[in-house]
Amino acid sequence: MNSNAGALARRLDCVRAELAELDLHGLLVSQLANVRYLTGFSGSSARLLIAGTGAILLTDGRYGQQAEEELPDGAGFELVISPDGLLADLVERADRQFSGSRLGFEGQHLLFAEWEQLRGESSAVEWVPVSGLVEGVRAVKDEEEIAAIERAARIAAAALAETLTLVEPGVREADIASELDYRMRRLGARRPAFETIVASGARSALPHAATSDRKLRAGELVLFDFGAHWQGYCSDMTRTYVVGEAGPRQREVYELVLAAHWAARAALRAGVSGAEVDTAARQLFAEADVEERFTHSTGHGLGLEVHESPRLGRRSEDRLESNMVVTVEPGLYFAGWGGVRIEDTLVVTDDRPRPLVDLDASRLQILPP
Ligand code: ZN
Ligand code: ZN
Repeated sequence: MNSNAGALARRLDCVRAELAELDLHGLLVSQLANVRYLTGFSGSSARLLIAGTGAILLTDGRYGQQAEEELPDGAGFELVISPDGLLADLVERADRQFSGSRLGFEGQHLLFAEWEQLRGESSAVEWVPVSGLVEGVRAVKDEEEIAAIERAARIAAAALAETLTLVEPGVREADIASELDYRMRRLGARRPAFETIVASGARSALPHAATSDRKLRAGELVLFDFGAHWQGYCSDMTRTYVVGEAGPRQREVYELVLAAHWAARAALRAGVSGAEVDTAARQLFAEADVEERFTHSTGHGLGLEVHESPRLGRRSEDRLESNMVVTVEPGLYFAGWGGVRIEDTLVVTDDRPRPLVDLDASRLQILPP
């Protein structure tokens, strides 16, 4: 997405305010999604140095033209094309321009070799590790970001609706996944947001199953977990169906997961913690004595990355705010039998969350027309 200069300036202001709180003069940003968020540049080689009132984007010769096109006019970025390695140039500049400064670096993203280089070659700067700073700003989305995620979510839902017409006994998981990916691309996605999961039968009990060559059989569960990538933004949704008529246990498990899904949604609003939303879903499973079959957390933020802040997990102290975009995805998994997960993406508000797609989650069976 070609982010406008105003939006980028607001994001940089938020980061600068966080840096001021930490008594830092600047920040070396090395995580690519963070660089993209703050500059609009989407290349795979980049370091960003925010310092004082300026910001320097370093990339290599392969991306010179792309960087010029993607950096918005008037946003005040200095572009440096580094022939000798981004970090070497960055260290040299930091020492020369910001001597005596305290600059942060992303402790969770900087490679150890890069840290050695920073520490060894840049003697005039005090480097201080920070954690989750840009990610925290990214967690609250602006309007254009929400619109992009919504577009990605709608593409994915439409592609699934088309693909379901092809699901029948005897079709391979891999062929269904290819079809779903193809249809997402046809509908405007650049690519899938992550490797599409189609897991059938007992394989649906693997929460992160890899799609296989297994053929679907009548009466079995089939789980789809997939998303589209649109203008840099990801969507993520899961639906579980029965190929044909559902049996009593399949219905029972499905109803329970759906109830947990709705309970989490009902708890989701600005001001609550990630753990409170997680508890809302988990409690229903505990009452039905199947809590240990829910083996992951209830949801996560998404945006430029499929998994980002905030976390909706058992121990998450992340406080939800309006315009965060999160998934709600409780599931139950029974080894040897199968699993059910229902995942939607929602925008947090002061009141009820706003779902980004309306693909009917109460539908369980895929029946021949
Ligand atoms: Zn998912
Ligand atoms: Zn997810």
